[in-house]
Amino acid sequence: KPTDLRRMLEKVVERFSVPCQQKEINLKLHVIEPLPRVYVDRDQMDQVMDNLLSNAVKYTPEGGTITVRARRRSDGSAEVSVSDTGIGIPKKDLARIFERFYRVDKARSRSMGGTGLGLSIAKEIVQAHGGQIGIDSEYQRGTTVYFSLPPCEPEVVR
Ligand code: ATP
Ligand code: MG
Repeated sequence: KPTDLRRMLEKVVERFSVPCQQKEINLKLHVIEPLPRVYVDRDQMDQVMDNLLSNAVKYTPEGGTITVRARRRSDGSAEVSVSDTGIGIPKKDLARIFERFYRVDKARSRSMGGTGLGLSIAKEIVQAHGGQIGIDSEYQRGTTVYFSLPPCEPEVVR
């Protein structure tokens, strides 16, 4: 059956409310209704969201903001994004960021922990659902990762 995307995102935000409070990060959810109905593997989609949110928490300093958004794109698909006001990613690294084991600047990454697999796994899962994933980032300003999910029923075009 179709997933209630809003409900799924509310639960993700709930899971991350404690780690965000501990780091004094402001966590927001912004859903624009109506959202299209989508079919997703709930465990896999939770894994995608947990990856994106844990990156956002890891790479955003205290006092920052993380915003989870969902909306319907003009092509009928759902778009989910996770934005942060964190340390950002240099332009030269952006093209490779979805590769397995790719991590920006070994020194900063080592101090943060992790293996460099989170984003590559997120990409595989999103693509397996027929969606696309992308990233926008400005070094020392913040990062947005967004992905799309195709709607259950294709739109009727007249
Ligand atoms: P893992 O997810 O396996 O624990 P990781 O977080 O290092 O390790 P990815 O999630 O694949 O690996 O991210 C790859 C690299 O991209 C990170 O090492 C980090 O340098 C950079 N990165 C990812 N998300 C963000 C973000 N929101 N802000 C800044 N840098 C990020
Ligand atoms: Mg990660």
